[in-house]
Amino acid sequence: MGTGVFTLNDLIGQIKAIRSNADIKLIERAFAVADAAHKGQKRMSGEPYIQHPLNTAMILVEMHAPDSVVAAALLHDVPEDTNVTLDEIEEKFGKDIASMINGISKVGKIKYRGVERYIENLRKMFVAMANDIRVIIIKFADRLHNLQTLDSLPQKKAYRIALESLEIYAPIAGRLGMNEIKGRLEDAAFKYVLPKEYEWTLDLSTRATTNKQPYIQKIVEQIREELFKDGIQYIDIHGRYKHLYSLYRKLLKYGRDVTKIYDFTAIRCILPTTADCYAALGIIHSRWTPLKGRIKDYISQPKPNGYQSLHTTVFYDRGSIVEFQLRTPEMHESAEFGIAAHWSYDEVKGKQFVADRFKHMLDAEKEIEWISQLAVLQNTIKDKKEFLDSLEELKLDVFRDRIFVYTPKGDVIDLPEDSTPIDFAYHIHTDIGNTCSAAKVNGMIHPLDQALKSGDIVEIILDKSRKGPNPDWLRFAKTRHAKSKIRQYARAGLANWIKGVIPHAMRKKTKNK
Ligand code: MN
Repeated sequence: MGTGVFTLNDLIGQIKAIRSNADIKLIERAFAVADAAHKGQKRMSGEPYIQHPLNTAMILVEMHAPDSVVAAALLHDVPEDTNVTLDEIEEKFGKDIASMINGISKVGKIKYRGVERYIENLRKMFVAMANDIRVIIIKFADRLHNLQTLDSLPQKKAYRIALESLEIYAPIAGRLGMNEIKGRLEDAAFKYVLPKEYEWTLDLSTRATTNKQPYIQKIVEQIREELFKDGIQYIDIHGRYKHLYSLYRKLLKYGRDVTKIYDFTAIRCILPTTADCYAALGIIHSRWTPLKGRIKDYISQPKPNGYQSLHTTVFYDRGSIVEFQLRTPEMHESAEFGIAAHWSYDEVKGKQFVADRFKHMLDAEKEIEWISQLAVLQNTIKDKKEFLDSLEELKLDVFRDRIFVYTPKGDVIDLPEDSTPIDFAYHIHTDIGNTCSAAKVNGMIHPLDQALKSGDIVEIILDKSRKGPNPDWLRFAKTRHAKSKIRQYARAGLANWIKGVIPHAMRKKTKNK
C-alpha cells in the first residue's frame, strides 16, 4: 500500500481486518484529538495535515502494530505543532502513549547536518531506541510517509531528508531485521540522493522484470500444480521484485554487470510448516536442475540476524535462471518486519532484542559502547582530518554490510565486510590480537591479510612470546577497533622505549621545569 488520501474509516477497516478485538474507541478518540488539533493546518503539498498522521498510522497497521502504537502515531505531531500539550495528551491517553509521543518528538529533532552533528544524531537515535523500540518504529513510518511526499519540498531540504534517511534510518531498520521498511525507506530516498543512478537502476529493473513477467507467471502456475500433485498445501506463491536500492548496491558490487544478478525477481513460496518447505524444495529440484552452490538452508542454519528461509536457484527453460525462496508464514513476517513482528515483547525483552541486534555496539551493561568510543574519539583526536578518517572507519564498522563468522566453539562474531583474521582476533580480545601469529580458517592456514567470508570458522594461533602487533597490520586491518589497538600498542611501545632510554633522573628534571 502506498501513500494516499485516507479517512478514519479506511484506518478502522484496515485494523478490523487484522484484529477482531481491536480497541476501536481508542483509535477514534486519538483521531478526534489529532484532527481537531491540526484543523486548518496544511502540508507543503496542500493536503490537510491530518493526512500525514493518518498515513503514518496506516503504515503501522500494515505492520500489525498494536492499538496504542497506532494511537500514538495519530497523535505524534500534536504536541510539537499544535496548541495541545503533551500533558493534555497524557491526561487523555495515559502515560504509555504520552511517553511514546515524547520520544518521537525528541527523535524528530535529530537532523542530518554534516559529519560533526552526525555522531550526536546517531547517539540520540540509539538512546531513544534503547529506551523504547516502538518510538523508532513509529519514526520509520513517519519518515516513510514524509519521503513519499518529498516532491513538494524545496530541493535542498528534500535532499537533506533523503540523505539522512539513507545514512541513518535505513541502516538501523536493517539491523532491526525490518527489511521491508528498510527497502521502502531506501528506495524512496534513493531517488532524491542519487537521481541519475536511480533512473539507471529503475530502467534496468523494469526491462529485466518485464522480460521475465510472463514466465514468472508460468513458473508460479507450474509450481502450484506440482505441489498440488504431491498433496502439499501452500499459503501463498508470488513473484517478488528486488528493491531498487539493494539492486543498485549489488550491481555496484559486480561492476555494474547485469548478467551477474540472478535475483532481479524470485519466486517466494509461503508454506504452512518447515516440513512443507523441505518437501517443496525437493519437488522444485526434481523438476528443474539446481545451480551448484546456490542451495542455502537458512532454516536449519538461520543467519545471525535470525533470517530463516530455504533458497535455491534453478535452471529454467532455455537457460534462464530463477531463484526460489521457501518459508513459513512466521519466517516471512519475521523477515519482512523484524522486531516489529514481535509487538508483544515486553520492555525487558525489547531491550534485549536491541542489545542482541546491536551487539557490537552495546556492552554487557547495555551501555552503548560505541558511544563511549565516539566520546573518546572526540576527546583524543584534535586533528580534524584524522578525526574525520576515524569517523569514517567507525561509520564503516557500524553500517557497512557485515559478515558473520564463527569461533571454533561456534560463537557467532559479527564483523564488517572484508574484515581479516586480525580484525577477528582483536574483536575477541586485545591480547589475542597482540599475540596473534597466524590464523586457520575452516581448518586451513589463512593469510592474515586475506578477507574472511560469512560462515568461516576462524581460529587464531597465538605466540605468547610475541612482543606485540606488527605495524604492517594497519595496512589491512578493517575495523577501527583493531587499528586503534595496533596504533595504541605502537604508541605505548614508543613511550616505553623513551622511558628505557632517558634516565629516570632526567625525566624527573624535565617534569619539574
Ligand atoms: Mn510526522
